[in-house]
Parts: sequence; structure tokens; C-alpha cells
Amino acid sequence: MPFTAAPVRFVCFDADDTLWKNEEFYRQAEQRFARLLSAQMPPEQAIEKLFQTEMDNLSTFGYGAKSFTLSMMQTALELLPPSQVPGAMETLLSVGKELIHHPVELLPGVKQTLEKLAGKYHLSVVTKGDLLDQERKLKNSGLLPLFNHVEIVSDKNPAAYRALFVRLGAKPAEVLMVGNSLKSDIFPAVEAGAQAAYLPCACNWKHEESEEPANPPYIKISALPELLPVLL
Ligand SMILES: [Mg+2]
Repeated sequence: MPFTAAPVRFVCFDADDTLWKNEEFYRQAEQRFARLLSAQMPPEQAIEKLFQTEMDNLSTFGYGAKSFTLSMMQTALELLPPSQVPGAMETLLSVGKELIHHPVELLPGVKQTLEKLAGKYHLSVVTKGDLLDQERKLKNSGLLPLFNHVEIVSDKNPAAYRALFVRLGAKPAEVLMVGNSLKSDIFPAVEAGAQAAYLPCACNWKHEESEEPANPPYIKISALPELLPVLL
């Protein structure tokens, strides 16, 4: 279905790397993790080992900074000589805490775009990850008063989107989902009947990567303010 703005009444936004920077801080944390293992293996290999641990841990710990911290600690525990483990655990705890407490940095034009859409559309944030972490970021972003609804889900699949649309009292075609991940924000929302706007981020997490289809069932934008001429 080609994009058509006419029926849209509800706009749902992913948060991490759609409203604010996120992934680049994880990449920086990974570099610090890799430095701890530099005597054991090259950085790419250390980061690949960490990614495998994260994937193994997803069903146990879910998404977010706390899960990431636990996965860094587990991987280091498995790969470092015992004498280096206590120091490494201390360092990785600090890396994880710094990641969690990193100040929120909004992406360009986000606040102005939301201010222009607020009141004209029902605005929601739809994010996955750690509840406490996402609530803190939302509060610190200063964006909270602009949203009508906040939804923090454990995973973003078509069933989760369908359930959200029912809670919003929205027909799927009345919803525009905006996000940086084809895998989590765009494809499952489209499968649930919504329209979608894809805002790619240069530093997408490997787990969120997907191929773009030849005839995309979504619009593609390079910054959030590009929604304004489409919606207003
Ligand atoms: Mg995102």
C-alpha cells in the first residue's frame, strides 16, 4: 500500500535513535569493552563475542542498558584470566552505569517537530527496552508533555502493534509509525496495517539491520522535520 497521509490521526514514534541518540553510546561502550580484552583478541573479535552473548541473553534479560552491561560482564568473565576478572567487573559496571546516566541528546529538529504536531495528532512513544531506563530518558528528554501516550513494550512484533492500536482506539490505517529500525519499527507495524516512516540512523545496531525492499511500503525521511510537509 503506498503511503497516504489523509487518514492519519495517530503518530507513534520509536525513541532510541529516532528521537534521541542512543546507539553511538553503545558503540563507545563496546570499544571500552574491547580494550579490556585487547591482550586476548582483536577488537572486532571481542565485539563479536559480546554480540553472541547479547543474542543468547535476549530471551532472559531483554533489551536495554542493564542487559547490555550483564552481557559485557559475562563475556569478560568467560574470556579473561581469573586474575583480571575482579578489575574488569569493576570497569564494566562503571561503563554500564555511565551508559545509563548519559545525558539525553535529542536528534535534530525533534522538539520543534513534535511541538508542531502536538494538538493536531495523537502522539505516542513506542519503545522497547528496560522500563526504568526508558522512563528516565523520556523524563530527561523534556518531551514527555508533548505525548498523549507512552508505550514501553518488551518486543516490537505485529501482535504488539495490533494490541497497541486497539488500546489507542485507532484503526491501523490511521496510524503512522516512525522509527529508525526496519526490523522493529517499520515492518511489524506495516504488517499490523499501519503506515510507516523510516528514518535510518547511520549507526544501527547489527541486530536491527534489515534489507530495504525494492518497493518500500513506507516513506523514507532523513530527519524528523521532513514529516511536517507530509502531515501538516
Ligand atoms: Mg530505535
